[in-house]
Amino acid sequence: MTTTLAIANQKGGVAKTTTVASLGAALAELGHKVLLVDLDPQACLTFSLGIDPEDLELSVHHVLTKGLDPLEAVIETDDGVDLLPATIELARAEADLLTRTGREHVIKSAIESLAEDLGDEGYDWVLLDCPPSLGVLTVAALTAADGVLIPLQCETLSHRGVGQLLDTVHDVRRFTNRKLEVWGVLPTLYDGRTNHARTVLETISETYDLEVVEPPIPKTIKFAEAPAAGRSILATAARSNKGALAYREVAANLVTRSQRPKAKRKPTAKAT
Ligand code: ADP
Ligand code: MG
Repeated sequence: MTTTLAIANQKGGVAKTTTVASLGAALAELGHKVLLVDLDPQACLTFSLGIDPEDLELSVHHVLTKGLDPLEAVIETDDGVDLLPATIELARAEADLLTRTGREHVIKSAIESLAEDLGDEGYDWVLLDCPPSLGVLTVAALTAADGVLIPLQCETLSHRGVGQLLDTVHDVRRFTNRKLEVWGVLPTLYDGRTNHARTVLETISETYDLEVVEPPIPKTIKFAEAPAAGRSILATAARSNKGALAYREVAANLVTRSQRPKAKRKPTAKAT
């Protein structure tokens, strides 16, 4: 069984890509088979895993808009995870898909095709690195997902986008994916020394009735260095690095969460 998790927040710079790369490496360390999907035309995830998008002939754009078999575009990385990479061509996918029937389902059907092709060798986890918008690609990611994880930098104005994201989740549940569950917010770039971060987090989780995924990911300098090394922080930092340890713990908690029986769907109030 594959668990597909969308890492989404339309705000940029909240550590979506870092979270996808780090959780992917941590899940692989736990023995899980993992596919990461880069859905951002900036291709930061692809870059950060040591792949130059300019060297790629086939990428996620061909899968989503040209019907390429996803297996043809998937590559193995040094981090022990597989990657469906992005290139700048993905910037056109949004417009290309806009007029297509079934556009919300393009990622879902790519994941299903991989599951069929790979059979018992299939992925345990598919992590979707969403772009910083609530456009076609993010909606398609939410349509493909079992759950959505919302990285959140705990600053005064960071709640402003959360209501909008939850509105989109609500619409996706109504129209394209009834089984989508919000797995919660993951505090990132967290400075636990200030009361401020904790207060913001509490306010957001109460206002929107959201679970907080533990532990928070502390701000550490190593994160800024990892992408340049072409490996995730789990490979480049010391085992005792606080950020790497936090991601390992989150990964273990997500594994437990994935084994939880599905919650009975209670009617969701439309967030305002
Ligand atoms: P997003 O994908 O949401 O735009 P990124 O994952 O690209 O965000 O992260 C934005 C920036 O913050 C990057 O430069 C990244 O290296 C840095 N960063 C991410 N997590 C941390 C952290 N825990 N500590 C310090 N810097 C971080
Ligand atoms: Mg990103």
